[in-house]
Amino acid sequence: MTIDKASAGAFLTIDLAALKDNYRRLCKQAAGVPLAAVVKADAYGLGDAACVPALAEAGAETFFVVQLAEGIAVRAALAACGRAARVFILLGPLPGSEPAFLQHELIPVLNTLGDIERWRAFAARQGKPLPAALHVDTGMNRLGLEPAEVARLADEPELLSGIEVVLVMSHLACAEEAEHPLNASQLARFQSARARLPRAPASFANSSALFRGPDYLFDLGRPGAALYGINPTPGYPNPMGQVVNLQARILQVRTIDPAETVGYGATHSARRRSRIATVALGYADGYLRSLSNRGSGWIAGQRVPLVGRVSMDLATFDVTDLPAGVALPGAVIELLGPTLDCDTLGEAAGTIGYEVLTSLGSRYHRSYHP
Ligand SMILES: *Cc1c(COP(=O)(O)O)cnc(C)c1O
Repeated sequence: MTIDKASAGAFLTIDLAALKDNYRRLCKQAAGVPLAAVVKADAYGLGDAACVPALAEAGAETFFVVQLAEGIAVRAALAACGRAARVFILLGPLPGSEPAFLQHELIPVLNTLGDIERWRAFAARQGKPLPAALHVDTGMNRLGLEPAEVARLADEPELLSGIEVVLVMSHLACAEEAEHPLNASQLARFQSARARLPRAPASFANSSALFRGPDYLFDLGRPGAALYGINPTPGYPNPMGQVVNLQARILQVRTIDPAETVGYGATHSARRRSRIATVALGYADGYLRSLSNRGSGWIAGQRVPLVGRVSMDLATFDVTDLPAGVALPGAVIELLGPTLDCDTLGEAAGTIGYEVLTSLGSRYHRSYHP
């Protein structure tokens, strides 16, 4: 769905220069270790078609997505800008999908012995070795080879015959908590798993782990969130630039008397004569309902509290304290931007910036600044 500017209720602007800048900033942080770009979930909601070429231009030569279909979209985005890159699929080859990996030049991340067996059989049918990554679970207990499976691969190396292992990887559970003991224990388990697997470049660090010191970097970093402006060092100033700006148009402004209520469930009662501005954006647009009576926006350099429930298509802000003539129909309230980043909005919504970005809907006028 493409929405033109004149008819849009809300405006989403993605700053591709800031995205590229963030990639380069993380490269500096990684001190020369190459960085892949994680662009799963349509580049965390910001759009693969624009973000992939920008990241490739900034220097990314490897991309990670979760699903096969996402990989096909990334391959198309790369083709459109005439760039080559490796594309890894974190879910691996689900049964029957193997030929599509070859067709679109995608590399599966193998997470189980079953994945390995199927990829090996597929390679044998092709009559040539096929590349793959091996994902080791080092303590997250979510996805990846278990220690017993790694041991079995060490004992029976023929299980990997015909598979060209191009990467061994694992993923941290608590990378954003510098002092969490699981970091060091996962690191030790990763090192011991690597020693039992075929020699291959290793990848361990997501965004936050790039800030955990050189031991976590190995041969390839895998940042996602920080590229899009999410703070990889929670509790400390955000080293990343803001990429996303979201503004919603004011449709109507009304004055209500004390004790009148606003919105579904009448959850906000005016304590004074108030002016309420209604904007054209709601939870169907990813403006989370849990922001009801907790969120805020900015207009003309001033914070305005969100009052009442966020409904599917509309949200209401108390603009009583603004000078007359500022909050008028047609003006916009900024909901994400330099003064209100996705981490702050996520916190108000009882979640994290990741969910704020990946929830962003499609009913915006979207524009990409080069
Ligand atoms: C999502 C993901 C990443 C990126 O993590 P961020 O915290 O967004 O940097 C890296 N590796 C794997 C396996 C992932 O699933």
